[in-house]
Amino acid sequence: MSESLPGAGKTIGVLALQGGVAEHAQMMQDLGAQVVLVKNAAQLENIDALILPGGESSTIDRLTRIFDLRQPLIDAIAGGLPTLGTCAGLIMLSKTIEDPAPGQQSLGVLDVSVGRNAFGPQVDSAQVFLPWITPAGDEVTIDTAFIRAPIVTVPGEGVQVVARHEDKIVGVRSGKIIGISFHPELTGDTTVHEELLSLID
Ligand code: GLN
Repeated sequence: MSESLPGAGKTIGVLALQGGVAEHAQMMQDLGAQVVLVKNAAQLENIDALILPGGESSTIDRLTRIFDLRQPLIDAIAGGLPTLGTCAGLIMLSKTIEDPAPGQQSLGVLDVSVGRNAFGPQVDSAQVFLPWITPAGDEVTIDTAFIRAPIVTVPGEGVQVVARHEDKIVGVRSGKIIGISFHPELTGDTTVHEELLSLID
């Protein structure tokens, strides 16, 4: 039965240093994929795609350096590993953080500038239905949650804007990288996760 699921035969790594790891892992398992909770560089070797979850980007950044994952992550993603970053994960992927925490770095693999907490504090969290542009160019509606969400302030060259909320850029795609400000893993909408699976050769 699992043969017919989009994740069948695929292994997805979820960076598991801090943040909303379990929900992504569950969603990928529900889609039929094997999941590896990535905590060291060796685990990046045998995955077909990677998810950088939401959480606190300055903490995740610090932990990637403590666990010697920073350069291996950059090498894997820049080397073409299909990657989805959600919320703090989008901040991690970005080239420039406009308002970083003291000492905060990003991986610099996605040519965008981001602003953190652009929709206000935790209390302003919201469930939102958003238009999403698929790789085929169709517009679909996705069901998402915004929690202290960042925005893309400047999309760089080759970066396609695929979602906006309140006129702000909240979804981008560039090659095999998808960056989103929000959390479909919390609402159960599998559109973006299935798109990540479709990027695997
Ligand atoms: N604002 C958080 C940060 O800067 C991200 C919030 C989230 O991932 N839900 O990392």
